[in-house]
Amino acid sequence: MKYALVTGGSRGIGRAIALQLAKELQYNILLNFNKNHKAAEETKLLIEANGVNCHILQFDVGKAEATTAAFENWKKANPEAIIEVIVNNAGITRDGLFMWMKPEDWNTVIDTSLNGFYNVTQPLLKDMLRKRYGRIINIVSLSGLKGNAGQVNYSAAKGGLIAATKALAQEIGKRKVTVNAVAPGFINSEMTEDFDQNEFKKLIPLKRFGEAEEVANLVSFLASKKASYITGEVININGGLYS
Ligand code: NDP
Repeated sequence: MKYALVTGGSRGIGRAIALQLAKELQYNILLNFNKNHKAAEETKLLIEANGVNCHILQFDVGKAEATTAAFENWKKANPEAIIEVIVNNAGITRDGLFMWMKPEDWNTVIDTSLNGFYNVTQPLLKDMLRKRYGRIINIVSLSGLKGNAGQVNYSAAKGGLIAATKALAQEIGKRKVTVNAVAPGFINSEMTEDFDQNEFKKLIPLKRFGEAEEVANLVSFLASKKASYITGEVININGGLYS
């Protein structure tokens, strides 16, 4: 049984990715969430409508021990399961000027996006290397490429994840495991629901926010066999806002 793991898959972009991997690539889905069990259950139903299995796994990607324990328990219960695709999507923002930034706002953002990548990917990597096949896709951000005022923590986390993507791709390419990053601009989701869309839209050449499904289409391509010669890349999806 082949599975794709999507972290933060209960809502938003992660939900769209999990659905697309089920629909387009017929992957069974290992759906991680942190707090919102109801949303995860709803997403599971949508995924299963595509004729695949969906297992929900609760853990905070920022907590190493909880993450490892969740994987170990799941593997014990599903010894035949193979995780072929990891999408590190879980991410949060805690915006504010750096001058006033509290340690917890720095730490939780780094823990979720950057340490989350380590906590999730490192324990699963050995199996991928052994199988000589795997796709690792990290959801980063425009902020991690250009930096964004008010988001020093988030820009650092995503920038670090971009560098980790490039470095890991070089380490494991010889085992046919690819590692890529997808960098969205403004995408409609709960993360951006309070934004003043009219102001931001003026800056975007395509004059609109993107949809989670548009990001999911790109991730699904990178997760597919068609993307076999792409690794170490950061692919922008931002309506032309930045290149
Ligand atoms: P949402 O806030 O809509 O959803 C976030 C998801 O991540 C939820 O499923 C949430 O689960 C999960 N999550 C949050 N913290 C953790 C954690 N510690 N452990 C496990 N899961 C967690 O965000 P988006 O869908 O908009 O964002 C998804 C990714 O895309 C993020 O990495 C974000 O940084 C990135 N991104 C988003 C952009 C946008 O414009 N929306 C732009 C650029 C990048 P739960 O509800 O259970 O807590």
